[in-house]
Parts: sequence; structure tokens; C-alpha cells
Amino acid sequence: MTERSVGMAIRSTSLLACPFCGDDEPMEGEPDETAIGLLYNVHCRVCTCMLDGFTSQRAANRAWNKRPANNSITDIDAAERQNTKGD
Ligand SMILES: [Zn+2]
Repeated sequence: MTERSVGMAIRSTSLLACPFCGDDEPMEGEPDETAIGLLYNVHCRVCTCMLDGFTSQRAANRAWNKRPANNSITDIDAAERQNTKGD
């Protein structure tokens, strides 16, 4: 088995691929120490998008994995087309 960590970040297999670039190895970053306690994040090492500000790694991971269904962008496009039809 190869458990690898890059820098201070830990690879997590429970995370979905990056919604922007599709990279399938998003990282759990080192939590930030703030005045209100540790804040956790998930980020993409390829396109550097990041979700941060979560009070637990679990919450950050859940938020990262939460995304619209695959067809929702098409739905929005269709709705916008209908809205602008009368212009
Ligand atoms: Zn990405």
C-alpha cells in the first residue's frame, strides 16, 4: 500500500473529484488556527480552488462533496433562455 502525503496536506480518498478541473485527488489542507479555533479546508492542488472556514474536517469534506446534479447546469441554461425569450 502506498500512503502518501504531499507537504502538510493529507490525501483523502473520501473526497469527490474537483468540480472545476476534475482532478481526482483533492487535498485536506492543514487547518488554520484562528481566533475562533481551528478552521478546516479542502482544496484542489491543480486549479487551487479552495473551500475553507469549516469548524471540522468532516464539515469541509461534506461541503466539498456537495454539488448540484450533473444536469443542473443545463437546467439553468434552459431556464435562462426561457426568461430572455421575450426581450
Ligand atoms: Zn481543481
